[in-house]
Amino acid sequence: MVSFKELGLVNTREMFAKAVKGGYAIPAFNFNNMEQLQAIIQAAAETKSPVILQVSKGARNYANQTLLRYMAQGAVEYAKELGWEKPQIVLHLDHGDSFELCKSCVDFGFSSVMIDASALPFEENIALTKKVVEYAHQHDVTVEAELGVLAGVEDEVAAEESHYTKPEEVIEFATKSGCDSLAISIGTSHGAYKFTPEQCTVDPKTGRLVPPPLAFDVLHEVEKKLPGFPIVLHGSSSVPQDEVDTINANGGALKAAVGIPEEQLREASKSAVCKINIDSDSRLAMTAAVRKVFTEKPAEFDPRKYLGPARDNMKKLYIHKIVEVLGSDGKAE
Ligand SMILES: [Zn+2]
Repeated sequence: MVSFKELGLVNTREMFAKAVKGGYAIPAFNFNNMEQLQAIIQAAAETKSPVILQVSKGARNYANQTLLRYMAQGAVEYAKELGWEKPQIVLHLDHGDSFELCKSCVDFGFSSVMIDASALPFEENIALTKKVVEYAHQHDVTVEAELGVLAGVEDEVAAEESHYTKPEEVIEFATKSGCDSLAISIGTSHGAYKFTPEQCTVDPKTGRLVPPPLAFDVLHEVEKKLPGFPIVLHGSSSVPQDEVDTINANGGALKAAVGIPEEQLREASKSAVCKINIDSDSRLAMTAAVRKVFTEKPAEFDPRKYLGPARDNMKKLYIHKIVEVLGSDGKAE
């Protein structure tokens, strides 16, 4: 048993309370390798933004849980070395699918876990979430739950179609389960292909696909039911078209990849939405930079020469998200 406190990490409780009050959102960036972690910590340290390091079940299997724990601990020390005196870093399990997995993460030094029982019937979702909350809270670890179903694929979590969260259910769910934050479905979606071309309209000026708008009416109803309660948005990458273009210009084959427009995420950040999950965008930034080096310098075979530019490109993206979209810069001085 290792407490997250020994690793220098924090849970989300105070962070979310401040974010809801202050009208900004905390970035939750997924990571599974060193360059990505370096880019996230450099971006957060430079902007003094609280940050959530997110690990999915798949990433945990990929990277190894022991290594991940020490990477998170190393991230805290690295942040201090970069001049961030009191780093506010959360290590969070993304889409935990069982009590056992959540417990194992709590025992291994995570400061926050998500139990995603959103595919289960309402009462069963409450029961499983409650079980995780009861264990996690004994160790001061915070718990995110999910109500409503998102479309798209994220590791092993896949759903054909989305079902918006029903605002009339949120009070009962939050009260009975005891969760600390709630992921809701208002039209965001996992992956780089969030919408089919049929769901989109075409911008006459650019010829690009424009996705359907987020259901802000559902979000506002939820806020009315649970004033000040921390809300989470999953699947909130914007799929930057310049990165998609770079990938495709250098041998890639991404077709009609569409994300959530940043102005909508900016608007959501000002509400009770206090955590916004971004994964695909950094995958795109990494892939674009690597492909570009491979095209331009085909003789290059030192991984630092392509993973270095990938890291720089991800860092630029993270800083952009923090400063221009979520507004979390300067909130962890
Ligand atoms: Zn998700």
